[in-house]
Amino acid sequence: MLTYTYISKGKFELTEKPKPTLLHERDVIVRVTLASICSSDLHIRHGSVPRAVEGITVGHEMVGIVEETGSAVTHVKPGDRVTVNVETFCGECFFCKKGFVNNCTDKNGGWALGCRIDGGQAEYVRVPFADQGLNKIPDNVTDRQALFVGDVLATGYWAAKISEITEEDTVLIIGAGPTGICTLLCVMLKNPKRIIVCEKDENRLRFVRKHYPSVLTVRPEDCADYVRQNSDHGGADVVLEAAGADSTFRLAWECARPNAVVTVVALYDRDQILPLPEMYGKNLIFKTGGVDGCDCEETLRLISEGKIDTEPLITHTCTLAEIAEAYELFEKKLDGVMKIAVECGHVHNP
Ligand SMILES: [Zn+2]
Ligand SMILES: [Zn+2]
Repeated sequence: MLTYTYISKGKFELTEKPKPTLLHERDVIVRVTLASICSSDLHIRHGSVPRAVEGITVGHEMVGIVEETGSAVTHVKPGDRVTVNVETFCGECFFCKKGFVNNCTDKNGGWALGCRIDGGQAEYVRVPFADQGLNKIPDNVTDRQALFVGDVLATGYWAAKISEITEEDTVLIIGAGPTGICTLLCVMLKNPKRIIVCEKDENRLRFVRKHYPSVLTVRPEDCADYVRQNSDHGGADVVLEAAGADSTFRLAWECARPNAVVTVVALYDRDQILPLPEMYGKNLIFKTGGVDGCDCEETLRLISEGKIDTEPLITHTCTLAEIAEAYELFEKKLDGVMKIAVECGHVHNP
């Protein structure tokens, strides 16, 4: 079968591999219909994910159809349409039981798919702990609508969930890339008084204004003043930092009012400075990533009810054979790209 493979630092290639087989009784083989490209895939290609194993198939955002199930799998059966979770988790350890699945203590837990084991930019993928890692897609939800449930939408949902947002709040979201938009969609479910999105890229600002006209937008250089003027207590009540740029961590806490919650959704390439003497007295509450992606059933229900729609994020579609060009487009942010749907097989459109 065709797979997109991490050959060595700087090099991904389309290669042929044998179709995966069940290795454990809790495994499922999924026939991938749609996959997507994530910025974490680019981090692997740049060699900045030390745990990534050379030779593995990349891709950790995908949907597909259950092909074959291990003997201990009970939640899905062959033929089920499913989303695949980016995280592999056992469901039984201390952290899993508390919903902190990102810190599952199983030796195979954490971000495994498309990093330490073969992922989903391929025709088939083996999913370990499949009862935890797969969720059935409701009949009225298309593959394209469900594509981001396991990774980028899970991140946005988790970020909004932990940020203690109330209906009186002014919420600032920094960054309007795919993670920022998914965060925005989930923050909107909490009905805060105001939402301000800060972004430097003009295409992305246009995207926000077009799809979410009730949301206020601002550029980073004007952000601090704008937030002060457009909030009730001298700053945002809640800040979600989804940009991960060198300047945006500082911007996040500077735009927060005293006693605000600042949630760091982004993954930084470098250390950030927490200037405690300077922020003394501001009494901020910081919450940091990564995502505990265990609310996929809930997000699928919200998509099915029309309360979350991530489909506008799919700005481009290609086939698996065309994936190398898609990576270039995605990495260079050409042609207004947000997310790319990669067709790996027959796509379900009810
Ligand atoms: Zn990802
Ligand atoms: Zn666990």
